[in-house]
Amino acid sequence: MKAWILGGGVSLLKGGVEAGLGLLFPEVCQICRAQLAKAGDGFVCAACWQRFRFVRDPFCDCCGLPFEGEVTSTFRCGNCKGRRFAFRAARAAVVANEFSLEIIHRYKYSGEVWFEGLLSNLLWDQLGVLGLRWGWDLVVPVPLFATKQREREFNQAERIGKTIADRLEVPLAVDLVKRVVPTGSQTMLSRAERLDNVRGAFVAGRRTNLRGKCVMVVDDVFTTGATSNACAQVLRRMSAGEIWVCTVVRGL
Ligand SMILES: [Zn+2]
Ligand SMILES: [Zn+2]
Repeated sequence: MKAWILGGGVSLLKGGVEAGLGLLFPEVCQICRAQLAKAGDGFVCAACWQRFRFVRDPFCDCCGLPFEGEVTSTFRCGNCKGRRFAFRAARAAVVANEFSLEIIHRYKYSGEVWFEGLLSNLLWDQLGVLGLRWGWDLVVPVPLFATKQREREFNQAERIGKTIADRLEVPLAVDLVKRVVPTGSQTMLSRAERLDNVRGAFVAGRRTNLRGKCVMVVDDVFTTGATSNACAQVLRRMSAGEIWVCTVVRGL
């Protein structure tokens, strides 16, 4: 079993991370490493916390893209006009900036697991702000391709989704949708290329009828929506009643 290496040179086995984090981890901001920051603050101090850009009204009713300026009625952004998604809407907690992406990156690729509570809390708080903490039947994390998950040893969407599902008191369905194509990184691809890249990437993991069910698809980042849409298409074919995509970060 791989041990998580903590910043202060302390290592913990994966299973004991949550239990031991507050006790063993130095209560220092993991961004500036200068100010105090406790587990309850997500190991980010008040000053660094200011660097988050929260998604607030107004934003696109469909994809959740924030919009600068005054908007009095429900609107759709230019990207969503004339486009049909398999999900009803996408919502995110914070806008992608150097700060939020650094945290996501360190959590996903450097095993800096102490950021997990922070990321889960950002999404949970936003669900509260947006009045989206009720009415759900299940949470579906966007799956990783099997070999990728083995390499990383965890799926960030599943970990964040688990916290959200537990707090909503609904099941986390990890086997409903399967990723059957390794799509690789999409960061350098255009919107059209991303759509192409994820076509056929997801299939149903088992036969299920989701008629009338409200499903929350959870992922870490939403950019063009190509990935979450491909995942939502599978749920749509299972007759899901309502599908929303909720992410921590909204790419711009
Ligand atoms: Zn700091
Ligand atoms: Zn939009």
